[in-house]
Amino acid sequence: MDKISIIVPCYNEEKALPEFYRVTSDAVNGIEGAVCEFIFVDDGSSDHTSDILESFACADSRCRYISFSRNFGKEAAMYAGLQNASGDYCVFMDADLQHPPQLLKEMYHVLKTEGYDCCAGLREDRTGENKLRSILSRTFYKIIRKTCKLDMGDGKGDFRMMNRTMADSILELKEYNRYMKGIFSFVGFDTKWIPFHNVERTAGETKWSLPSLFRYAIDGILSFSSAPVTMAGTAGALLFLAAIVTGIWALLSGNGLTGIPLLVCLILLLNGVQMFFISILGQYVSKDYMESKKRPIYIVKKKGGFTST
Ligand code: UDP
Ligand code: MG
Repeated sequence: MDKISIIVPCYNEEKALPEFYRVTSDAVNGIEGAVCEFIFVDDGSSDHTSDILESFACADSRCRYISFSRNFGKEAAMYAGLQNASGDYCVFMDADLQHPPQLLKEMYHVLKTEGYDCCAGLREDRTGENKLRSILSRTFYKIIRKTCKLDMGDGKGDFRMMNRTMADSILELKEYNRYMKGIFSFVGFDTKWIPFHNVERTAGETKWSLPSLFRYAIDGILSFSSAPVTMAGTAGALLFLAAIVTGIWALLSGNGLTGIPLLVCLILLLNGVQMFFISILGQYVSKDYMESKKRPIYIVKKKGGFTST
């Protein structure tokens, strides 16, 4: 019998969890040749998520949970889940049923019979999602495809089942700033994509505000690309050239482009551009600073359902 570890990051999911557990249990019970374990990771929830997970672990020996001491973010929760998963196959799923459990059977079948290392859900649309968020997300994926040489696209999310070799290679990457979509793409392996339609979350609300999505997007680009620094260099060189050309032109023409207003404008413009690019460099330096501290990616407050606990 194979074992499938279902890893579920949960942040304030008390409303969604009972339905998630019921529907997903039904779905995995129907998979022949495999048993499953649930690894729920409570990412510092302030509602009753932790109590619900504890009750799951008491009632069902397949359920295990880890509770963080505070909110460390979905990426940290996924990492903790993977570190604690003992399955031959591991799959990441959101707690809100936006990742259809019905696909688990097909994913397992693909990995067993078609020789792929990973089988991932490809979300075909953004039905039910806030319009502004859709537009911003699409733009972000366009930028990331251009700046990072990795296969990250709109709809290619975290819902994926992988074999032990791929799971172990993800665990090898111990960086503090974890951008999972980039990490999946970085480790490579043969992946089959199976399309699914977006559905609205079963209960509760999305945990992403626009500012947090913006921070996530910046993290993604900075973690996997140095294109902004290259851009800064090119822009700096072009500005330098423009300054020389303007100076020569002003000298030759003798009048027109002189005077204090022009000077003030130029100083402001150049300072603005400099500060913008210094801030990009600062972002990289701060990422490196966080990595160099070697802080833990998460801190566990409580664990349950594991045989050793
Ligand atoms: N999540 C988490 N930590 C966070 C934010 C979200 O563990 O800080 C979990 C959340 O409980 C859910 C999954 O990540 O299981 C996806 O979150 P959400 O549904 O809010 O994201 P969306 O579907 O809107 O992108
Ligand atoms: Mg969701």
